[in-house]
Amino acid sequence: MEKNVTDRVQWFVSTCRNNGLKVTPQRLAIFRILSRSADHPSTDTVYRKVVREFPSISFDTVHRTLLTFSKLGVIEAVESYSGVRRYETDLYDHHHIHCVICGTIIDFCDEELDAIQVPERIADGFTVLGKRVSIRGICENCRKQNSEGTHQ
Ligand SMILES: [Zn+2]
Ligand SMILES: [Zn+2]
Repeated sequence: MEKNVTDRVQWFVSTCRNNGLKVTPQRLAIFRILSRSADHPSTDTVYRKVVREFPSISFDTVHRTLLTFSKLGVIEAVESYSGVRRYETDLYDHHHIHCVICGTIIDFCDEELDAIQVPERIADGFTVLGKRVSIRGICENCRKQNSEGTHQ
């Protein structure tokens, strides 16, 4: 199910080469950061990590690189309730739990959800490439903080 970071990086390098995208040290660093993060980082989070390695890289470069990567299909943009685009490199079938307060996105796998059938009226006129169930709610941490607030 889950590929390790080295495998993913190798696959990333060959996918870029096959698509004529140069694998620069900056691009490699951005992909590495993403494949090590299980928390679906935003552009800002990726930028703050990559700038430690490449102090001259701009936010805009990181932003454009992430867009290029997701167009290429080596990463995926994750639907988010906070309005900020988030990314991940986990392209296997999985589902998401979103906390609407802190923005945490947690992965989970469930074979029954994987097997959900797309309604025929959708599948007729639409080429389905993937399905994902996203559950939204309030995580344990936020729930605790919330109840502490009301008991004061
Ligand atoms: Zn939360
Ligand atoms: Zn995910």
